[in-house]
Amino acid sequence: MSDFLQTPLQYLKGVGPRRAADFQRIGLATVEDLVYRFPLRYEDRGHLQPISTLKEGQEVAVAGRIQSSRLRTTRRPGFKIFEALVGDDSGSIRAVWMNQSFLHDILKPRLNVVLFGTVEARPGLQLTNPEYEIIEAGEGEAGEAVTIHTGRIVPVYEKAGAMTPKMQRRLVYEVLARVPDELEDPLPSDIRERLCLPPRREALLEAHFPVPGTSIDLLNQFRTPAQIRLIVEEFFLFQLGLLMRRRSTARESKPAVVHVDDRIRESARKILPFRLTEGQRAALKEIVDDMQQPAPMNRLLQGDVGAGKTIVALLAALVAMENGLQVAFMAPTEILAEQHYLSLRKLLEKSRFHVELLTGATAGLRRRDLLARLAAGDVHLIVGTHALVQGTVTFRSLGLAVIDEQHRFGVVQRASLRSKGLRPDVLVMTATPIPRTLALTAYGDLDVSVMRDMPPGRRAIATTVKPESRREEIYRLVKGELDAGRQAYVVYPLIEESEKVDLKAATEMADHLAQDIFPEYRVALLHGRMKQDAKDRVMRAFASGEIQVLVSTTVIEVGIDVANASIMVIEHAERFGLSQLHQLRGRVGRGSHQSHCILLYQYPISVPGKERLKALAATNDGFEIAERDLQLRGPGDFFGTRQSGLPTLRTGDLLRDHSLMERAREEAKSYLASNAMSPAVLESLRQTWPARFGLMDVG
Ligand code: ADP
Ligand code: MG
Repeated sequence: MSDFLQTPLQYLKGVGPRRAADFQRIGLATVEDLVYRFPLRYEDRGHLQPISTLKEGQEVAVAGRIQSSRLRTTRRPGFKIFEALVGDDSGSIRAVWMNQSFLHDILKPRLNVVLFGTVEARPGLQLTNPEYEIIEAGEGEAGEAVTIHTGRIVPVYEKAGAMTPKMQRRLVYEVLARVPDELEDPLPSDIRERLCLPPRREALLEAHFPVPGTSIDLLNQFRTPAQIRLIVEEFFLFQLGLLMRRRSTARESKPAVVHVDDRIRESARKILPFRLTEGQRAALKEIVDDMQQPAPMNRLLQGDVGAGKTIVALLAALVAMENGLQVAFMAPTEILAEQHYLSLRKLLEKSRFHVELLTGATAGLRRRDLLARLAAGDVHLIVGTHALVQGTVTFRSLGLAVIDEQHRFGVVQRASLRSKGLRPDVLVMTATPIPRTLALTAYGDLDVSVMRDMPPGRRAIATTVKPESRREEIYRLVKGELDAGRQAYVVYPLIEESEKVDLKAATEMADHLAQDIFPEYRVALLHGRMKQDAKDRVMRAFASGEIQVLVSTTVIEVGIDVANASIMVIEHAERFGLSQLHQLRGRVGRGSHQSHCILLYQYPISVPGKERLKALAATNDGFEIAERDLQLRGPGDFFGTRQSGLPTLRTGDLLRDHSLMERAREEAKSYLASNAMSPAVLESLRQTWPARFGLMDVG
């Protein structure tokens, strides 16, 4: 029935392989893709204006008859101008098209046309390169002319290669005329009725070719019932898929359900070096509650840099270990794994649990011995990189996997655990604050705990924004910190297209700082092209204080903890995203000293660019910054990659349509609970869902 919607665009009249490839490039392969893509905007060409009333500067639609036409040569060889005089009952106006000689054979005298364009005065009034449409009388009902491009509200589409907006408008019009009357509707009718939304076919027609009288403002805000209906349809299916995915994990059972008693509480108290903050306590409770459920936990712990996520994870680990289960603690890099290992081992010193580190450097006999002890259950807590669960490592009874600082890969890790037949509780931790607006979508199948408070006594990082020309003064500030025994970061952005140039700039800067500016201190360079062990060597030397100034082109590894580093200079700060700057800044302010972050910018900088930097200087609250960043950059850029867990959407927009997403989620929830949908339909959704929304199937 809806087979027509699945027709490849290539097979449509007037498309063919070349134009189909143009469509493919913007992600449109089938008729369904085409009709489910909203126009960029709508133009009201519905009000035909009498020609005599036209004024310079107006954007107008006029209807009239071609009175005369001619092709004019110009002084530029080969460049011709086509002119037509178009008149209605009230008067006439000249229409001019540059370099489109072929129009001479199309727009012939005596034809009726509708033109749409801007009125210019040169000095007589004229329309330059207007959109045109020839009206053949008697086309429509009651002898009325049917127009597609003019005389109505028209959709304006994104250009697709050689397919102009006008060509697409005609194509969409023709395709919509062929959409069958009886169209299967994935949006249940009761939801549709509850929300007062039109059926599918009507919505498609209205979203592209609105009936006269539709509000142009609502259209351009994508808020007509037809548009809302298509957005809700997409969100509903998306949420339904998410909920089903969740439901299927909830049915699995993990190796052992955890119990908590006074003995365990006492053991936790013993290792705790400080009082937990409110946020830590609340998060821990949510985590431990999950661990006591039969289904595996899938929880994301969000907390800004320095919020104290590690101790929360360790306490959860302790609960697992007290229950006779093993814990894997994974960090994104070896050096971070080492740091975790050192601090976790210290915290667990007084306990009976064995902590070990497994990295690429663990080799030979030691590795074999370690793997054997892990398999036997003699190692309780193993710290390593994300490779930990991917290799040949076997556990006796893995109860909890903690994945630190890499929410993006959390999904992958979970999948790889599953593929090994393991169903532990999973705790993913991230310092990237996810705006509330996105959490629902990005982590729809994860539970989220958020810690918004900070451990006491933390001093806010003093952030200042300076033009690059004030460099001298900044160096004096850095030198002051170095003289006081502190350390400094100097960060360079790395933009892929100019990677080489940037690297050169960073290298020269490192030399310059070492030789001319801070000759009495040690300066080292860290960049993305270095081998991992070379990077690790530099990081270690910085961590131990052997190096005092670290010049880095890479984002200094997330989570790296050098408490003595108290100042960071970020070059070309205008090139970074806000969240990224915030993450970078989090590398300082980790000790008891007052820390500084200096954002250096270069001219030319836009006013909004500078505003952005000032916004960062004004707050240390990562969540506030994330919301701001999201508003500025949009969801796609906010996360950067598809791995982010954000769906590919065709009608909906996560920012614009956030409240519709919430509504769709509620509807999907109650729908699933009501068991109204046939198992076959659910199954087919389950299968097509990951591809449709461009998400990984982890179930
Ligand atoms: P992040 O959330 O960035 O991973 P960490 O877990 O590394 O933060 O914690 C940052 C620092 O704060 C660590 O030195 C840790 O010991 C300390 N810390 C964490 N929680 C508290 C607390 N409740 N009271 C005092 N210090 C704390
Ligand atoms: Mg951390």
